[in-house]
Amino acid sequence: MFNRILVANRGEIALRVIRACHDLNIEAVAVYSEADRGAPWLDHADQTVCIGPAVSAESYLKIPRIIAAAEKTGSQAIHPGYGFLSENSRFAEQCRASGIEFIGPSVDAMDRLGNKDKSKTVARAAKVPTVPGSDGLIESEDEAKRFARNVGYPVLVKASAGGGGRGMRVARDEAELVTGLAAARAEAEAAFKDGSVFLEKYLDRPRHVEVQLVGDQHGNVIHLFERDCSLQRRHQKLVEESPSPNLPDKVRQEMCTAAVRLAKEAKYYNAGTCEFLVDQQNNFYFIEVNARVQVEHPVTELVTGVDIIREQIRVAAGEKLSYAQKDIQQRGCAIEVRINAEDPANDFRGSPGVVKTWRPPGGPGVRLDSHVCAGYRVPSNYDSMVAKLLVHQPTRAEAFAVMRRCLREFVVEGIHTTIPILKTIFDNPQFIEGKVDTTFIERVLLPRT
Ligand code: ADP
Repeated sequence: MFNRILVANRGEIALRVIRACHDLNIEAVAVYSEADRGAPWLDHADQTVCIGPAVSAESYLKIPRIIAAAEKTGSQAIHPGYGFLSENSRFAEQCRASGIEFIGPSVDAMDRLGNKDKSKTVARAAKVPTVPGSDGLIESEDEAKRFARNVGYPVLVKASAGGGGRGMRVARDEAELVTGLAAARAEAEAAFKDGSVFLEKYLDRPRHVEVQLVGDQHGNVIHLFERDCSLQRRHQKLVEESPSPNLPDKVRQEMCTAAVRLAKEAKYYNAGTCEFLVDQQNNFYFIEVNARVQVEHPVTELVTGVDIIREQIRVAAGEKLSYAQKDIQQRGCAIEVRINAEDPANDFRGSPGVVKTWRPPGGPGVRLDSHVCAGYRVPSNYDSMVAKLLVHQPTRAEAFAVMRRCLREFVVEGIHTTIPILKTIFDNPQFIEGKVDTTFIERVLLPRT
């Protein structure tokens, strides 16, 4: 087992990983940019290293600085968290070439799955259903038009390197297809330095259901059941829960085993997520693999009792998984909400600044993953998430009641947050019945945005 791990991230996930290290009696080294100097989570680390200025490209994304920090501090492994360098196979390769273990999958698996159109090829090889698509990159406008005419509108233009809802455009007719192609290309080029795109049939009001996977370097892969992440705004998740409500058990089992099959096909190890869309007839279609730990991983930790970050560290050190598939059960209902420093009354504009009051909720079955405290300044440079609030209860109805109570208790002053919209969501009868899809928030709750 490692003695010292460097955490190449910031905010709540940095704190989450530091805690997991300490729970395993491993020292944690935190890196920070100048914008995060003095940030509260750094106090928990055993050592800290400044890796550059506020701009991510010069700090949290700067591979040589992070590897140098690991070497200087004698760290044997790097945990990348999510975002930043977590899905960058070049980073994984350079860590390992420097004799530092990258806590994640193999470079080969990252290369085969990291890109949306390539991962669909792996899915098809594993006999996992995929959304009908262009089966490869779209090179010309004519090719796109031909595909769209064949499968029928609406279609979705998707950047192969896309993520976080970026590089995606819906086209309902040929004119929209032409503008959508250009817009998706430009957005992906700017965000990911890769403007390649492909097309998919745009499914009508699907649900987003994803399967958590963990595997070791000895060929064992298990699933930790599913999470429903259908509540999204602009393809960004706001609420996640497990189990997925109203999903027939047979479909759940089929999806989970399909995800394991795909992971085995790619010789996948460490934590990963297989994302699916589920249509109104409960057919499921693979959309992508996230080859890292996800924001919403605690939902699964609550229902299964597995500490996913600990498992990641263990398997990266070459140990076998601590669980077999038969040990894994889904108990009760867990729900997570993302509390972002954004103003829902003002088109969700970012709301950085100093947090004056921070009074989080508590009680049985409540978990708060957050790096924030009163007096903390939310910087404008990074992701706006300030907390993940989770509840775990025997039934979904109880989980809803506790979540409503927690949202009422939570007092944040000094910045705007998504708490008001979350309160509206948890009072919505359709959501209470579990009858929502990925378009629900924009179609029903915020029809004008
Ligand atoms: P990202 O990597 O940017 O998060 P995903 O491929 O995971 O992109 O898709 C994000 C969301 O976009 C999905 O959860 C779903 O809401 C929507 N989406 C993606 N593909 C389709 C599709 N073919 N039809 C309808 N909605 C889709």
